[in-house]
Amino acid sequence: MFATVSRSLWSDTVAFADIARPKLTQNIEVDVAIVGAGFTGLWTAYYLKQLAPNLSIVVVDANHVGFGASGRNGGWCSALFPASFNKLAKLFGEAQAKRMHAAMVGNINEIARVIELENIDCEWAHGGTVIAARSQIQLQRAKGEVKEHSANGLPASDLEFLSANEIASHANFSDALGGTFTPNCAALNPAKLVHGLARVVESLGVQIYENSPVSQITKNKVTLGVNEICAKFIVRATEGYSPTIRQARRAVVPVYSLMIATEPLPDSFWQQTGLAQRQTFSDFRNLVIYGQRTADNRIAFGGRGAPYHFGSAIKPENDQVPEVHTLLEQTLLELFPAITGTKITHTWGGALGIARDWMASCGLDSQTGLAWAGGYVGDGVSTSNLAGRTLADLITGQSSELTTLPWVNHSSRNWEPEPLRWLGINSGLIAVKHADAVETNKGRTSKVNSLLGRFIGG
Ligand SMILES: Cc1cc2nc3c(=O)[nH]c(=O)nc-3n(C[C@H](O)[C@H](O)[C@H](O)COP(=O)(O)OP(=O)(O)OC[C@H]3O[C@@H](n4cnc5c(N)ncnc54)[C@H](O)[C@@H]3O)c2cc1C
Repeated sequence: MFATVSRSLWSDTVAFADIARPKLTQNIEVDVAIVGAGFTGLWTAYYLKQLAPNLSIVVVDANHVGFGASGRNGGWCSALFPASFNKLAKLFGEAQAKRMHAAMVGNINEIARVIELENIDCEWAHGGTVIAARSQIQLQRAKGEVKEHSANGLPASDLEFLSANEIASHANFSDALGGTFTPNCAALNPAKLVHGLARVVESLGVQIYENSPVSQITKNKVTLGVNEICAKFIVRATEGYSPTIRQARRAVVPVYSLMIATEPLPDSFWQQTGLAQRQTFSDFRNLVIYGQRTADNRIAFGGRGAPYHFGSAIKPENDQVPEVHTLLEQTLLELFPAITGTKITHTWGGALGIARDWMASCGLDSQTGLAWAGGYVGDGVSTSNLAGRTLADLITGQSSELTTLPWVNHSSRNWEPEPLRWLGINSGLIAVKHADAVETNKGRTSKVNSLLGRFIGG
């Protein structure tokens, strides 16, 4: 009954055939052209229409609404920003780092407000995030994170340290010695959010074209094969896919994150495992892993670790890496041994964007009218909302609290040409793998991590 399928769990919850949109087949002229129909593009269109309902806006996508990371991610709508507080404080000063932190926390309430207002059912559950420390080293890391948070003068309610007993009241992780909890995260179904947003912006008069790949973006002109869009403002909202556009080939690198989903799990499993508020979860290993209990009681679980592909290649085949999917399954089993015997129904993956300095940014060049947002690493579900609000302010010429945040108009330098890029990124991945392998060498996770290390190593 439960054969594993090679597509995202979320894509099964949206009726694509009912919502196919036209392809752009003529030259058009508009006020704002947005390239990319993911969260960034659609939030930007949404807030522009709030500020200036008469603007003519088109969104064009090479594939379809939600085709990119927005339709296939882990569904953590968190306050995480790819650059740490300390990095922001070093680059822009402590006050700016604090403003950025507050803005990120504010995203969650803002998204909750809009989905309620616009009646978007995206299986939202504001349950926070619980992160387990499953070894002494991980425990030190958890304590260090809370200490640093407090030393930076950030609200104690944002991040609390949990003892072994306290973490058990959230979730029954194996070997948990303690951990942390933050209330600043909601679990959601990303495909339902991105398709819901598309429906809303269309109802506000935004035209969306699908199957319309853009090859170039220059001042006032978007080039799509033989057709062109002439626009006062152009927003590049292609995130990890930006290397497909000539002017942005080395702006970010596409790095793959892969996911699996289980069949729906019975009440007996959840009574034992917890996550009653649908808290998103992870542990304190070096390699990023992330999970959520879905609205229909599955676990959707993902992790980094897939190799970077030479030349920033993005291909459907890259979404399936059986070795990594198997390792994700084994890791999930380690976290929650009660899952033994459960079927994996879906395996998938997708590309996210990383800037050379790991700093997300959004901005507008007022000379050319070219705007962009991205480089969210793996934290774009809520950050893209902040980008959309900020770009709307910038494009409509409003100076606001948002337009003076430190990430606005930040410029990251280009990535190196190949083969340096390939060598550098994959060496970094191997180093992370090794760090985990060394840390857990005597522990139960050593097998998984050393396997993953061997895979990444070739
Ligand atoms: C597996 C996975 C798990 C993740 N988990 C999380 C998570 O739990 N929480 C979190 O915060 N973030 C997560 N992320 C990251 C997050 O999903 C992204 O940061 C975010 O969705 C980016 O949104 P976007 O709209 O900027 O880009 P995308 O959603 O990637 O959209 C870009 C769009 O541009 C289109 N496009 C590309 N090239 C062209 C072109 N040449 N012409 C026209 N259109 C083009 C694509 O078809 C695509 O629809 C995850 C990412 C992945 C891949």
